Amino acid sequence: MNPVELARPEIRSLQPYSSARMEAADGSIWLNANESPWPPFASTADWNRYPDPQPAALVARLSGLYGVGRDELLAGRGSDEGIDLLVRAFCTAGRDAILVSPPTFGMYAVCARVQGAGVVEAPLRRDFSLNVDALLAAMTPAVKLVFVCAPNNPSGAGVPRAAVLRIAAALAGRALLVVDEAYAEFADPDAAGSIAAEIGRHANLVVLRTLSKAWGLAGARVGALLADARVVALLRKLMPPYPLPAPCVDIALRTLTVQGEQATRERIAIVRAERERMADALARIRCVREVLPSQANFLCVRFHDAAAAGAALHRAGVVVRDVRHYPMLGDALRISIGTPDENDRVLDVLRAMPTVEPATDAAACREVRA
Ligand SMILES: *Cc1c(COP(=O)(O)O)cnc(C)c1O
Repeated sequence: MNPVELARPEIRSLQPYSSARMEAADGSIWLNANESPWPPFASTADWNRYPDPQPAALVARLSGLYGVGRDELLAGRGSDEGIDLLVRAFCTAGRDAILVSPPTFGMYAVCARVQGAGVVEAPLRRDFSLNVDALLAAMTPAVKLVFVCAPNNPSGAGVPRAAVLRIAAALAGRALLVVDEAYAEFADPDAAGSIAAEIGRHANLVVLRTLSKAWGLAGARVGALLADARVVALLRKLMPPYPLPAPCVDIALRTLTVQGEQATRERIAIVRAERERMADALARIRCVREVLPSQANFLCVRFHDAAAAGAALHRAGVVVRDVRHYPMLGDALRISIGTPDENDRVLDVLRAMPTVEPATDAAACREVRA
């Protein structure tokens, strides 16, 4: 089945805006887009010109990196833009829905709510593994998009390939499966690896990648959506005319060189080694209840008193993510892997915290109630 048949009818029939840059033929004097004829004051680059809507060099490099065809890739402002485009293209307000497995990345549900789409939940198991049976049982005809975050944020757990493929097959003709691989570079190669190679076999499979994490380019906002070429063509229709700023494309291309890739690989190796060192060290600190296994560049850590741990870190100038509002993580903080020195600082602060015995826990509860 053509996956685009699941999209909103008005988007399928939409006549997209045709920009000057898209209509441009060859020429040497450009007077078609009301641009300034001079480069900006602060640069000699041709940033006075509107950028290519899908910069050819960037699309070529990213499609090579991720192993898909150029027509199977949509470059955009981080993977966040891909999430938003998918929800707007596939979910009719007031009628359709997305499906998520909490605790997971919050943007899926936020984009759905902005669009007026429903959010169906199939929670992770108590061990934070994806519950494929529960997910498939929660499916309704309204669900057009199923989001799976692999590895998952904020738990850090990887998702087995077999589970992803089973979901993709079960959803064929009913919904798209969107696999968010924001942290795929940090996963064990044998445990994970990208699922993007399966797009040719599963027309309803969409993969999100980003340069924000492993490539160190969160500030540039560059990501890619990988999907069946018909899905990519549909999403291009509702994307703004010039999504990618030229300076951002420039820095992305200079990062995606052979040398850049080598440097990135070395940094990923450091992060992975530090992740294992931190997981071991944290698990031996008294105030820590549990360190969840992670395939990403962060650790989700459960504390006897997460508020106190967060406050102690904050007093030392260390900012971590409070994830206590997520289901099953009411006692947890999410700690990104930093440089070895930064990680040592986290350990120093937490080691210096007073022991919290169960009895003290009870006393603290009584205090709160009083
Ligand atoms: C950080 C993150 C992203 C990346 O978003 P960008 O818009 O590419 O910066 C996507 N998904 C998840 C789960 C993330 O944690």
